Amino acid sequence: MDEHKAELDRFHVPDDAGEYADGLVAIMMRIPDGWGRWISCDRGWYPIIIDTDQRLAELDPVYVVHQVKEKFGGLRYYYQQSGMVSDDVERQMDEVVQEAEARAAKTCERCGTEIHVELRQDLFRILTLCEVCEGMKKERR
Ligand SMILES: [Zn+2]
Repeated sequence: MDEHKAELDRFHVPDDAGEYADGLVAIMMRIPDGWGRWISCDRGWYPIIIDTDQRLAELDPVYVVHQVKEKFGGLRYYYQQSGMVSDDVERQMDEVVQEAEARAAKTCERCGTEIHVELRQDLFRILTLCEVCEGMKKERR
């Protein structure tokens, strides 16, 4: 057994998953072998991505997830339809993901609080954080 491959295919349940562990595992189960079973965003977005998976699964029970991650301060939910649903359903699935990405843009990635400033930029990267989490981040520096 190739060790690198085994590591990719392992379920990387985040340490802070808590009550969201089952929901996150359900998403990782949809990631094909070899892609890497990680959820690469912080805890504040877990409810959004779990809700997204459940809504997509209702429309297309065997749809596939490629990657779920934060990129440039935004949620990216990369998925593929099974090819067994109608064009209309595929369009609905695209809308579900667009809604999730829009919701994440207004949700602190760390604590899940709704925020009204969409993106906060610091020297290194753009983050979607509420004022409290933004403040905590500065104190830790
Ligand atoms: Zn926050």
